[in-house]
Amino acid sequence: MRLEGRRALVTGGGRGIGRAVALAFAGEGADVAVIARTGPEVDSVAAEIEGLGRKGVSLKCDVGAAGEVADAVREAESRLGGIDVLVANAGIMKHASVGDISDEMWDETIRVNLSGVFWVTRAAIGAMAGRGWGRVIAMSSVSGKVGGAHRSAYHAAKHGVIGFVRSVALEVAASGVTVNAICPGFVDTRMIEDGRSELARFAGEGRSEEETLDMLRESIPMGRFLDPAEIAAMSVYLASDDARGVTGQAFTISCGSVQA
Ligand code: NAD
Repeated sequence: MRLEGRRALVTGGGRGIGRAVALAFAGEGADVAVIARTGPEVDSVAAEIEGLGRKGVSLKCDVGAAGEVADAVREAESRLGGIDVLVANAGIMKHASVGDISDEMWDETIRVNLSGVFWVTRAAIGAMAGRGWGRVIAMSSVSGKVGGAHRSAYHAAKHGVIGFVRSVALEVAASGVTVNAICPGFVDTRMIEDGRSELARFAGEGRSEEETLDMLRESIPMGRFLDPAEIAAMSVYLASDDARGVTGQAFTISCGSVQA
């Protein structure tokens, strides 16, 4: 098992990509704390982790609130005995043309997707560096590498995550802590399901939600959305000893849709 004895914290671990990462980590021998805003979701993922024979801890926390994040990281450290691997995965996607983005929408999108990554990393990385081993994995997106009409706040936040990861990686490079980003294309999760009416609205030409999703799939060279397990597999690799020389990188997994 590649993560035997490691202790991990996964934000946004209640469903989708975060849940897949948390369960893959537990399957590789890690104890895992999961954070999300919705208590019942993280409780059920923690129970699934326990079902795999590992310690599972569920924590309710809004990653867009600095104080809550600091408290949740302290709680995770105390219940797991420390955090070796952090996956800053929680995120939200909002759709609006630039002239229609309210201050509230801009602020929430940046706060959750970018400041949330900063707050949780700041809270956890010092102890990792002190122990001389650690992994930070931030969930950016292909939206962190290319522009996207009608989603500028989300794309700005995801570009920001990559700049943050590259910079922090340099700061801690000599300490045994690696810092990387994963940049998925479309992944089959609630984020896409919940966003389908907005995706259809901005796709225009009177397409239905189903037709819009079909059009998006057809625009991808491999003709499909990703499964969360494919993102989890990359996360396991980055968290493992095998990836000890990999830092400051932003890995695209997009079924060929973005080549950067
Ligand atoms: P999802 O909506 O299925 O799950 C998001 C998780 O984050 C949930 O557990 C939710 O409770 C949690 N969350 C959201 N806001 C939070 C907050 N303020 N505080 C704490 N928890 C919060 O989404 P997903 O598709 O699994 O996305 C996970 C990450 O991957 C996000 O950062 C997203 O931007 C990124 N991503 C997703 C896709 C995709 O196509 N689904 C593509 C690229 C990147």
